[in-house]
Amino acid sequence: MKQPIAEIVSVGTELLLGELVDTNSAWLAGDLRDRGVFVYFKTVVGDNRQRLRDTVARALDRSDLVIVGGGLGPTDDDLTREAIADAVGETPQVDPTLLARLEALFAARQREMPAINRKQAWLIPSAEPLDNPVGTAFGWLVRTRGKLVVAMPGPPHEMKRMWLDQALPRLALGPAGFWHTTIHTLGIGEGSVGELLAAFTGQANPSVATYARRHGVDVRVAASAPTPEAAAGLARPVLAEVERVLAPYIWGRDAETIAQVIGRLLTDRGQTVACAESLTGGLVADTLTDTPGASGWFRGGMVTYTPEAKRLLGVRAATIDKNGVVSEPVARAMAAAARRKFGADWGLATTGVAGPAALEGQPVGRTFLAVTGPAGTTVAAPPTWLGERRQIKERTVNGLLMLFFRLLRGEPTP
Ligand code: AMP
Ligand code: MG
Repeated sequence: MKQPIAEIVSVGTELLLGELVDTNSAWLAGDLRDRGVFVYFKTVVGDNRQRLRDTVARALDRSDLVIVGGGLGPTDDDLTREAIADAVGETPQVDPTLLARLEALFAARQREMPAINRKQAWLIPSAEPLDNPVGTAFGWLVRTRGKLVVAMPGPPHEMKRMWLDQALPRLALGPAGFWHTTIHTLGIGEGSVGELLAAFTGQANPSVATYARRHGVDVRVAASAPTPEAAAGLARPVLAEVERVLAPYIWGRDAETIAQVIGRLLTDRGQTVACAESLTGGLVADTLTDTPGASGWFRGGMVTYTPEAKRLLGVRAATIDKNGVVSEPVARAMAAAARRKFGADWGLATTGVAGPAALEGQPVGRTFLAVTGPAGTTVAAPPTWLGERRQIKERTVNGLLMLFFRLLRGEPTP
């Protein structure tokens, strides 16, 4: 079929009560996106026959492909079959073939099939069953008024297998291409990114969208066309322009992390890094060691939280007494001491005030970052961060790693 407009319906009262996060629809949306299928609506609806019927009926009015997840179990609150039957005006009946297969499943486990499971063998005239090799709930593929309803079980591994192995081959989605990439930036706010990209963010294809994430602002560039190659071609000039405009802030693409990118740069040069952390309490070391192979370039770190601990690392008492712990000279001395102590090529350091109260006259969110390397030391006093302790710590780590990334690439630093 031509690329349909799809709609996802997730069924389950637990989803509405906040007890369960609807991961199924996020996964399906990503899969459909990659196939060039547009999803215009997602709905979560509880285990209520009337509301579920209405939801399916409305979805059928406005979409070509309706994907319903959940509510295919055997119990009284599993109402997806009933609701779809209501929406298309048909009556479910036990299908003898499905019933025999269901009974065989139970027999294979030396169990008697409870009578309530019989409804899992239901079909309606316009439904074709979808096999479930990992559960007892068959799915349904319903063809009605030139539109399709796919109903699949809720457990994510059952849903994914059924979607990929059973539903997709039957849908025969037309050739279509969707191309997308996500650019990661740091050191610039979402509003400023939006302003710089204003020429693009209004257009639909290629599309450019910004997302504020914990690791910085992401920019997604996407295009759709009859083939993946054509889509990539359509996106290319826009991507190049986005990369040009945001160049000073870009550190990576797609699944990359900034620690991975830094690790690669260090590995290429045969260099190592060590850190000394005050307000980040080990988060720099934690972030760096999330990368496989970090032992090849990360020497180690120390959490030097108190003035005594800073002295233990090798920061002179006079430096602390004269400047206070939250100061540029202390950040500088910590980075140098970490580099020296761990015999690394680079030393990183953080000091600052995580809050909730000011410290030594320095406001909450005030931080100093230092990176010392073969060619000397660079110190940054980023803007005074807003936020809770954890956010201030995360932003400090991001700021430090971005500073280090720029130095490794020989780029100008703030
Ligand atoms: P159901 O098929 O509605 O009985 O769902 C069975 C189980 O699948 C639920 O208890 C959840 O653990 C899981 N599940 C159902 N729907 C979803 C969903 N949208 N996202 C993630 N898990 C789900
Ligand atoms: Mg349910």
